[in-house]
Amino acid sequence: MCWAAGWVGEKKIHFRDENHDDHIDKIWELIDEADGIIHYNGKSFDMKHLNREFLLRRMDPPSSYTNIDLLSTMRQQFKMASNKLEWVSLALGYEGKVENRGVQLWIDCQQKNDPKAWREMKKYNIQDVALLERIYYDLLPWIKTHPNYGHYVDGDKLVCKYCGSENIKLDGWERRTVTPYQKYRCLDCRSPLRGRKKVNRDDDGKLLNQPSTV
Ligand SMILES: [Zn+2]
Repeated sequence: MCWAAGWVGEKKIHFRDENHDDHIDKIWELIDEADGIIHYNGKSFDMKHLNREFLLRRMDPPSSYTNIDLLSTMRQQFKMASNKLEWVSLALGYEGKVENRGVQLWIDCQQKNDPKAWREMKKYNIQDVALLERIYYDLLPWIKTHPNYGHYVDGDKLVCKYCGSENIKLDGWERRTVTPYQKYRCLDCRSPLRGRKKVNRDDDGKLLNQPSTV
């Protein structure tokens, strides 16, 4: 019935409800352009609802993207009393969701097409997206699957794969496998990083610092 979405780092949050003619076309365009889509349980909920609308309209599938499902990150990495977005945001010190009238709000929008209800829904929807972006920055160093910022820079420049920062320090070596790798820490998003190339040893057998892209 409606959606809200924004680009990471941009203030503007797009919103469309079913009264807009480009309701579905616009979200398709945004998804088609995105390399990664941040959502909360979106992999099994939001994206499937959208895919259904695309199919029913005989639209092409949007081009490939990475699902950055923050609910999955919460489940994989942490044990919280609840993984509900509201609970997580309050635990992290943010305000919760905008209060709404529950089911009645949905009825007033869809069945009565009440402009006041739609305004309330829009506010609720936009607040959810703003909240999600804040939580995204907190969870960033814990996210397992994320588009690699290294693919957005030319050559072998070393940037943080999660946030694109060049503010990275050497952080020892990863020795878990037969081949040792250079480790780094992003000083902006705090992500631990690992170089792609194996590192060599000096004549005394000591590991060498050998920066490579991550
Ligand atoms: Zn970073």
